[in-house]
Amino acid sequence: MIDVAWLIDPIYIVTIFFFIIGMYRMSHPLTARSGIVWAGAAMLIATLVTFLTPALSNFALMAIAIVIGGGFGYFAAKRVPMTGMPQMVALFNGMGGGAAAAISAVALLGAADTTTSTLAIIGGLIGAVSFSGSIIAFLKLQGWLRPRPITFPGQQIVNMAILVLAVLSGAFILFTPAWLPLGVAAYLPLFFVLALAFGVLMTLPIGGADMPVVISMYNAFTGLAVALDGFSFGTPNYAMVVAGIIVGAAGSLLTLQMAKAMNRSITNVFFGAFGATEEDGATIQGSMKPIEADDVAVMLAYANKVIVAPGYGMAVAQAQQKIKELADLMESRGITVKFAIHPVAGRMPGHMNVLLAEAGVAYDKLFDRDEINPEFTGTDVVLVIGANDTVNPASHRQGSPLYGMPVLDVEQAKNVIVLKRGQGRGFAGIENDLFYRDNTRLLYGDAQETVAKIVSALKKL
Ligand code: NDP
Repeated sequence: MIDVAWLIDPIYIVTIFFFIIGMYRMSHPLTARSGIVWAGAAMLIATLVTFLTPALSNFALMAIAIVIGGGFGYFAAKRVPMTGMPQMVALFNGMGGGAAAAISAVALLGAADTTTSTLAIIGGLIGAVSFSGSIIAFLKLQGWLRPRPITFPGQQIVNMAILVLAVLSGAFILFTPAWLPLGVAAYLPLFFVLALAFGVLMTLPIGGADMPVVISMYNAFTGLAVALDGFSFGTPNYAMVVAGIIVGAAGSLLTLQMAKAMNRSITNVFFGAFGATEEDGATIQGSMKPIEADDVAVMLAYANKVIVAPGYGMAVAQAQQKIKELADLMESRGITVKFAIHPVAGRMPGHMNVLLAEAGVAYDKLFDRDEINPEFTGTDVVLVIGANDTVNPASHRQGSPLYGMPVLDVEQAKNVIVLKRGQGRGFAGIENDLFYRDNTRLLYGDAQETVAKIVSALKKL
């Protein structure tokens, strides 16, 4: 038989270039789709070439696993609505962590030396934490578990104790004392149960508003676990090492950016139980004053400058096309229109940018929070379309559970129109006193329908 095993490493190197090109192209919304194709092709080639590994067995089992996993991934990704994407990312990321933990377990059972075992232990710990933590994040994002922090007395001590026990059981696997009657295999289940428990317990106290930081951090964890696993079979698997490092590095950068966007330190995210304090009971003055679409159109017709602040509700309503139509209409009447993009608006990083780009809104119309905040004073009308937490002025009030989270200061504008369906709260579950301000009016209804009504009313003026 012809020996083709020598082909594996050169082809892995080619896939590494594909991964890097893919990652590079993902850094801009215009090229991001092709970036996914490059990275996907790399993953497919790397998987196929692995079958050339000498003395590989269990082909049938592997084929069944690939068909089940690939089939589930394909159909789930096809069916998921844009608004369900974060939980899907959390779930898929968790699967990556779980796969890395499983690889570590196999590596540990046959490990040749202490170095590879140590790497497998660390990879297993991180992978298992990422797996169970991501599942909890998925349940919170899906609304199957309370998004607010779930806390109990002595939680941090319990969490630390579980982590210490997990590390100790990992050390037992590495240096199984001769006097112990059992071998490595006996301690593996204990090690993984403790690591999985730590992932669950670490994620339960994290509140809704911190989820973007958490998801990106578990993403980084999964990458790191895969990279470590790439070393744990003696000869390094370059595709795993490099792909894992790329995911780990990108995830870490995203974690830092998300934490910065929320003005939070990583330790605070994981140990602060942000949003756990009940609302400070500060009585909100004023009442929620409704407005009709016709009156909003009149207000816009007389405005010189309008800023649109979109949020998760825009994604739910799929209102981006109508909003683009409204923005074009306003501009044709000589009104200056800008879009204020909060970094964690929606349910995933870049959510608003992607939707607005899809609708054809030019990038130079999108402004991030720090750029746009000084502009609200002096703006005639701000249209808050399905945003809530990201425009909540309670974040400026000491004692509020949101205190410290940087928001869009829309309340500084002359008039604020909030488009929402009813009395629903934001993802963090905190009351929003913006809605009660004197300069705020609420236009109730599904955002796609209410924006359409504004468009037709404005056309008649
Ligand atoms: P929020 O989730 O705070 O609020 C959404 C608002 O949209 C609600 O007030 C809701 O009110 C309204 N809404 C829902 N559906 C519709 C509809 N069809 N038409 C009109 N309005 C609608 O949104 P934000 O974007 O302001 O904040 C995002 C939150 O999500 C932050 O807390 C952030 O931390 C968190 N998060 C962000 C992630 C990210 O990476 N970006 C990831 C995970 C969480 P009503 O029900 O009354 O209509």
